[in-house]
Amino acid sequence: MSTSTETRNVIIIGSGPTGYTAAVYAARASLNPLVFEGSVTAGGALMNTTEVENFPGFRDGIMGPALMDEMRAQAERFGAELVADDVVEVDLTGDVKVVKTATDTYTARSVILATGSGYRKLGLPREDELSGRGVSWCATCDGFFFREQAIAVVGGGDSAVEEATFLTRFASKVYLIHRRDELRASKIMQERAFADPKLEMVWNSEVAEINGADKLESITLRDTRTGEQRDLPVTGLFIAIGHDPRSELLTGQVDLDDDGYVLVDHPSTKTNLPGVFAAGDLVDHHYRQAITAAGTGCAAALDAERFIAALD
Ligand code: FAD
Repeated sequence: MSTSTETRNVIIIGSGPTGYTAAVYAARASLNPLVFEGSVTAGGALMNTTEVENFPGFRDGIMGPALMDEMRAQAERFGAELVADDVVEVDLTGDVKVVKTATDTYTARSVILATGSGYRKLGLPREDELSGRGVSWCATCDGFFFREQAIAVVGGGDSAVEEATFLTRFASKVYLIHRRDELRASKIMQERAFADPKLEMVWNSEVAEINGADKLESITLRDTRTGEQRDLPVTGLFIAIGHDPRSELLTGQVDLDDDGYVLVDHPSTKTNLPGVFAAGDLVDHHYRQAITAAGTGCAAALDAERFIAALD
């Protein structure tokens, strides 16, 4: 275990669009940011997808990992220091913030939290391999790829029903697969879904298998009452069973809402602790887009810059 003697201006925890954008801004403001990228998931959620068509500036689209490489290189170009390691402990309560990895301790005058959130998975064997190849967690991002195709959405809450209804704009047919025989979604959402001629409810069913060699070809459904299985040919599967903010590290540090998202003083990125800012999907359970994450990452860097200027 070693302790870095230098107290940094800014430490950024997270390396998705939020973290890298914050790093670009902080580095260009000569704050010499230190960015913890995570050990296995550097680059964030877009490392798990193929084409991103809705990030402005790329008229022909760009592959998710390529977009993240560009952001990373841009942050480095301006002098951000990147460390491919996980932060395992923080103490953000004092004037000097303490950030620890498994082997080292770092200190900073301000910290930007950008650890994102994770979509809940079904936990099925082919799920990760076919992510971006038919399996998706984001209708806004990927719906457009499924024009005139038959697709399925799994889930029963508001977001599943909203996604399914939204996807009928593109798909020829949307199956909404739910374990029970009634939805948890609000009444108004349900009424809208039931009235949609392209949307078919598949009750008392769960996805047992995801099938396809290079891309999704079908899913195997299991009847939750009888155990009977059947194949449903679909080219898209949208998993809408929820998402969890990566805020375990922050429990007892910054204020979180009931679902574990970091609370900020909107429209700023200030948390309840002076000098601690939070942005991106760690805060936002509403929009959850790369561009909104990048936008709030920028805001967090500007907030940190002003905070440090006021200290000097
Ligand atoms: P993330 O991208 O999740 O990044 C968080 C980072 O924090 C990760 O790098 C992680 O390693 C790091 N981290 C977490 N904990 C620690 C720790 N303790 N120490 C160090 N590092 C840590 N959006 C679009 O706009 N267009 C799309 O086409 C699109 N497609 C998507 C496809 C998929 C499959 C998924 C999952 C999401 C997609 N999204 C898309 C949504 C978009 O990826 C997210 O909104 C965005 O990545 C959120 O950015 P973020 O930086 O807040 O979090």
